[in-house]
Amino acid sequence: MEAYFEAKRKALEEVLSHVTHSRTGKAHLKLKAGDRRKLRNNLLKDWKYSRHYVDSAINSVIGLVKGWIKLYNRGKARSKPRVTGKTVYVKSTLFTYRDGKLKISIEPGKRHLEVNLARYDYLPKNFDTIGGLLLREDGLIITFKKKVVGVEPRDWASFDINLTNVTALISGRVVRYDLRQLYHVHRAYEEKRRRIQKLSKRKPKVAERLMRKYSRREKDRARDFMHKLTARIAGELGGVESGAILEDLRNIKSKVLRRSRNLNRRLSKWNARTFQFMLEYKLRWLGLPVKYVNPSYSSRTCPLCSGRMAAYEGRLMRCKKCCLILDRDVVAVLNLQVWGSGVTPKALIEAYASMTGKRLTDQNHLPIKTYQA
Ligand SMILES: [Zn+2]
Repeated sequence: MEAYFEAKRKALEEVLSHVTHSRTGKAHLKLKAGDRRKLRNNLLKDWKYSRHYVDSAINSVIGLVKGWIKLYNRGKARSKPRVTGKTVYVKSTLFTYRDGKLKISIEPGKRHLEVNLARYDYLPKNFDTIGGLLLREDGLIITFKKKVVGVEPRDWASFDINLTNVTALISGRVVRYDLRQLYHVHRAYEEKRRRIQKLSKRKPKVAERLMRKYSRREKDRARDFMHKLTARIAGELGGVESGAILEDLRNIKSKVLRRSRNLNRRLSKWNARTFQFMLEYKLRWLGLPVKYVNPSYSSRTCPLCSGRMAAYEGRLMRCKKCCLILDRDVVAVLNLQVWGSGVTPKALIEAYASMTGKRLTDQNHLPIKTYQA
């Protein structure tokens, strides 16, 4: 990684020296095939690793410079491009995949890196090919490729993601997935970080290292939790051939989110984004569609009569018009389902009544089945 980083740094210096400015002040890259060959030969001196890494380094630097030129010509580039992250792009000529094992060439005929994918049960199994790899100091990013045939869904499930649970409406039933374990992971690491912060005055180097270590662990544990949860839900939806309706979070202003000091708010956003991202690609892998709907007022609109709902008791909401009383997360998933699938609220409620023999009045609200994660 060090050698690759160094090669990139040298390549960047060389490529940047081929950037010229026209009379209008626009930047252009004038790197001829001969220049490129010279650069390649230069970098290959004393290079003991697989030669393809040099090509990969040059390509990524050219991409970096071209991206910078685009910004520069639009007046948006602040400073010159720099090689920052120690990330190695491993193209398909540098690895093989056989019998569940990924072999990445390091030094030809001498050293390679072997990763047994069978050891990671959350990885997809039935893929067609492996695309490019990104090797980083803290891990390996693998691109799995598969051609999927789109499935026409028989039903739609809807999801509402909060700080401590995911509420879902799947095949007409409300289910709830507990996220408290995930919440405790975040709280525990928050506490650790606060203690490290105190250390940072006396031992800044140590504190910085510890901080990185714990942040990475927290991320790993949280992502692992979400992988398992979304894998399980994708499996359930696959079984009943159901698509998913999710909240479109683009409406929420990203600046507000990033600046949010409130930990719980930040965590629920992280939950929502990670859950959606992971569930979406797992469903697409199965050929099932995912739809996003605008969630505005989804927990304040009566799913039965479209009247306004007001806070009632605890997490319950009550319709001002028809007096329906429902848990607020259930209101949200019912509305998302109605808005996203085109099912009329009446049909939804009738389906519920015929399945359970219960009618929705203000005395009984939807029973919720809770799953422990
Ligand atoms: Zn109502």
